[in-house]
Amino acid sequence: MAGQSVSPMMQQYFEIKKQHPNEILFYRVGDFYEMFYDDALTASRELELTLTGKACGQEERAPMCGVPFHSYEIYVARLIAKGYKVAICEQMEDPATAKGLVKRDIIRVVTPGTVIESSMLAEDKNNYLCSIYAKKVRGGWKAGICFADISTGEAYATELHNEKMGGALITELCRYMPSEILINPAVLDLKDLTNYIKQHTNALVELREDSCYKQAVVESMLSRQFGEDWNKSCGFAPDGFVPQAFGALLGYLYETQKHGTERIKAVQNYADAQYMRLSAVTRANLELTETMRGREKKGTLLWVLDKTETSMGKRMLRSWIEQPLVDNKVINERLDAVEALYNANVGRAELKEALSHVFDIERLTTRILYGSATPREVKALGDTCQRLPQVKEQAAAAGAKLLNDLAEAVDPLSDILDKVSRALVDDPPANLKDGGAIREGYNAEVDELRDIMHGGKGVLSQLEADLRQQTGIPKLKIGFNKVFGYYIEVSRSYVGSVPETFTRKQTLTTGERYITPELKELENKILGANERLLALEHQLFSELLNDISAQLLRIQRTATAVAQLDVLASFAEAAVQNNYVKPTVDDSDVLDIAEGRHPVIEQMLKSSLFVPNDTTLDEGENRMLIITGPNMAGKSTYMRQNALIALMAQIGSFVPAAKCRVGVVDAIFTRVGASDDLAAGQSTFMVEMTEVAEILRNATKSSLVILDEIGRGTSTFDGMSIARAVVEYICDNIGCKTLFATHYHELTSMDKDVFGVKNYNIAVKKRGEDITFLRRIVSGPADDSYGIEVAKLAGLPDAVIKRAHKVLRQLEATAPGANASMQLDFETVEAYNNPTVPSEVVDKLHQIDVETLTPLEALNFLYELKQALK
Ligand code: ADP
Ligand code: MG
Repeated sequence: MAGQSVSPMMQQYFEIKKQHPNEILFYRVGDFYEMFYDDALTASRELELTLTGKACGQEERAPMCGVPFHSYEIYVARLIAKGYKVAICEQMEDPATAKGLVKRDIIRVVTPGTVIESSMLAEDKNNYLCSIYAKKVRGGWKAGICFADISTGEAYATELHNEKMGGALITELCRYMPSEILINPAVLDLKDLTNYIKQHTNALVELREDSCYKQAVVESMLSRQFGEDWNKSCGFAPDGFVPQAFGALLGYLYETQKHGTERIKAVQNYADAQYMRLSAVTRANLELTETMRGREKKGTLLWVLDKTETSMGKRMLRSWIEQPLVDNKVINERLDAVEALYNANVGRAELKEALSHVFDIERLTTRILYGSATPREVKALGDTCQRLPQVKEQAAAAGAKLLNDLAEAVDPLSDILDKVSRALVDDPPANLKDGGAIREGYNAEVDELRDIMHGGKGVLSQLEADLRQQTGIPKLKIGFNKVFGYYIEVSRSYVGSVPETFTRKQTLTTGERYITPELKELENKILGANERLLALEHQLFSELLNDISAQLLRIQRTATAVAQLDVLASFAEAAVQNNYVKPTVDDSDVLDIAEGRHPVIEQMLKSSLFVPNDTTLDEGENRMLIITGPNMAGKSTYMRQNALIALMAQIGSFVPAAKCRVGVVDAIFTRVGASDDLAAGQSTFMVEMTEVAEILRNATKSSLVILDEIGRGTSTFDGMSIARAVVEYICDNIGCKTLFATHYHELTSMDKDVFGVKNYNIAVKKRGEDITFLRRIVSGPADDSYGIEVAKLAGLPDAVIKRAHKVLRQLEATAPGANASMQLDFETVEAYNNPTVPSEVVDKLHQIDVETLTPLEALNFLYELKQALK
């Protein structure tokens, strides 16, 4: 395309485009960003822009589309959301003064993980850029993984060693849900990881070359960011891979952003053992932050617990839910803080009131640092500072160690408040384009320029008075017209008194008009005042931004403390509104719940009341609860509610129960039916077994495991056998607390053979063929599966129900193994598969009334049966 004959501007375009073949190039031309060729085709399709053409010196016009520069953010945001990257090419000099072709250059590449504009970010979520460096080593895999949110400055990193590195990395990704992931080429070998990313996330994957991970490159990146002794200040593990991962992340930021790394001042090294382990499947099953269907917030634990007032609190709450703790000391500090706020009704209300005026200073600080904050936003920072003393005071007043610590960490930032309120007007403009942001009295020159600008009234009338006095002409006037600008007008009768320094400009019938050098100077000042004022306001504003930026660490510390206070107050508020209690959290082995409820379902049930249920689980006699009961009885709800209560306790929240004791669990595992992954090409059964295998491999004695109807995906006897073997394995080899719902009544006999197994069922009331769900968990196995009754409830036609009962009776009669009270053994299985009793015999037996039989009739009946058997 780039032939000899193209126009100079297009030649420049091709030069720049060559360096960014994979990004959509936004090419600044005057008031527009223009896109050409393939970029134009893509952008016009994705953004529904009109496709036009641009003369480019060649016969065919270049396909082109454009967006106005002042609203480009929304277009970039939409392209980013669709998985594109956008390179922004600016004019590097003023086209009005440039000689020849305007210089242009790429100032930034916008990618999903590097966005800082509030218009492109969700306020209640962090936006993480992730970097993974993984390599096969002896005995498995080794990896460094890190996450950075450049809109808030947070950064986290950890080391991993694992045979099954794919799964381990998936678990890390689930904690932070990054929007963009940098990987080294070896990571491509981890197929389970790459499949997971493709199928279950919207993250953009960026393959980085091996050269980005070279020792020298990595070291130079890290010392550029953190100084020469980065190794000391960052505290990375020796011989780990985090430096490579983090170095590559920094390299990517330097490469793509003008700004982006200044905000990252420290990296937090976290250890896997610091948090409860939750697999991707478990997070999804428990619907922690998004629902399984629809991936919405409504209907999740986050939705129930979110009573926060600030965006910072919302993000912090989400991360607490994603990362439950395992150290009962830290958990109890949170719980004590929630309790104090729970009890302090007035104080909590006042704290929340103060918080409700707190702006997202965490992200705002980023924009202040990068100079893109608006006057209105900076004013909002000032308004926030004004509320901080109240936040501090209320937090300290409630009386709990953590609250005191956080109150201590809140810096009232009074110097910033003072500076902002002195510098900015009460209601500053949304942008600085037209000035008007700087307050009167802040800067003498601004005041003077404004005075001059507003007609320069004071200055002009002063000059007029001076001239009248000097010349003795009483009616001398200063006027303005478009042709000469400012002039002095003297009526005809006084023309004689005009001094020589006046230059005549115009003659009127009534008098003469003059100018003087002094007046011209004033005129220049007035006419130039606007420009000068704008420049000065810009300068003062950016000085203000610099001053605030210098306090970055103080603001950040305050923001983090405020966010935590917001979450703790939110927990307290949710506890009051939803009637939760403080759990006892310790290092015991129990999960003891009195009248527990499902936190989400109880909120979703509008008309009916949620029926509370008790739970007794431990690592001894009550380690395995086998729960039976008909479909729709509430088995799944009950099991999940126990998991959610344990999880809530470990994030420091009160729980939906009358009383509750939680011995810290190190992990929750769930296997819940019906999440088929058919789209992924795997059969339901295969998925199910893979998940069960994961659980058996990773659960420890201190884990909580939930198995919901495993074995469904295969034939009855296969399924039953697997289920039984799994129960035995967990009880004997792992010993963790397990809830196991099953429709295999045969498994209910296991309590006699296996230590730790207890039977429970969810009670239903049966009257004739009708059943009512009582939603009560009771000890002992269910006596029936009630499948047909449930089908009737669901509205299956009577004829079908009748027939089903008949078929069932026959089956039960011919296959004694299907009876709930019978032991599962291979004779039973045999009998089921090879029924030897004809149904006619059974029917006859059913029909006969033994009590009214005479001995002779009995004999005849026996004969009849014998005949039927032949
Ligand atoms: P199962 O797993 O036994 O088939 P579910 O747990 O899916 O049954 O429960 C079916 C429905 O019953 C739930 O969607 C919920 O609306 C209701 N439910 C379950 N448990 C309770 C309860 N304790 N109180 C009130 N309603 C409940
Ligand atoms: Mg269920």
